[in-house]
Amino acid sequence: MTQRIVSGAPHELDHSLDTSLRPRRIIDYIGQTAVKNLLAISIKAAQQRGEPLDHVLLYGPPGLGKTTLANIMAFEMGVNIKTTSGPAIERPGDMVATLTQMQEGDILFIDEIHRLGRVVEEVLYPAMEDYFVSWVIDKGLKARSMNLSIKPFTLIGATTRYGMLSPPLRDRFGNIHRLDFYDEDAMATIVERSSRILEIEAEPEGVTEVARRARGTPRIANRPVAPRPRLRTGHRRRHHHS
Ligand code: ADP
Repeated sequence: MTQRIVSGAPHELDHSLDTSLRPRRIIDYIGQTAVKNLLAISIKAAQQRGEPLDHVLLYGPPGLGKTTLANIMAFEMGVNIKTTSGPAIERPGDMVATLTQMQEGDILFIDEIHRLGRVVEEVLYPAMEDYFVSWVIDKGLKARSMNLSIKPFTLIGATTRYGMLSPPLRDRFGNIHRLDFYDEDAMATIVERSSRILEIEAEPEGVTEVARRARGTPRIANRPVAPRPRLRTGHRRRHHHS
């Protein structure tokens, strides 16, 4: 599959940059003010109650900072984060194993959560609601299910396709937040921050230009190859000549 440099989906060039440029603390996370404020309140409330954070669902186009926010929440809560994705958890047993290994308060981050298989997803329901998993032991006539309790944890799900999430899963998230494209000021701040970290000298006009062309998407702005202006399409060229 060819990857477009102007798409927000992860590109092979992104991986190490994603890690080095990803803000760690909530105060370094630029823009998305409404979501950031609500999350800061949830974090404070959870800390005051001495309980894990409520489950959080983040949705919106790729490259806007969902994974970054999940990591920030783990940092701010002082807990471990385990990162996986919908397609990576193939069998219900894998989900059970992951859940039983979580420590109290830990965060499980599932990217592309809309791609979880149905049976795998069903393991999550009692886990999210009552912190237990059901596990079928033995086969045939002797088969019976056993409930295994797990430590109270926080699920953070991310999806680019909110509409594809099944209602029972959606309903189990206490906090649902949508990330929006960044405005040009926020984008410029992100580009400045990145160039400072990477020690790349950036003229103000350059910063503005990269910020303007990155389609409101931090991942695109951070790419080492500056996005080029869009090529004119055949349609527009024909129009131009007529
Ligand atoms: P998503 O999970 O939504 O696809 P990521 O969290 O992986 O997006 O973000 C992609 C990259 O964009 C991150 O590595 C980070 O460098 C940058 N980024 C995202 N959001 C912000 C932000 N609010 N402030 C600064 N950098 C950001």
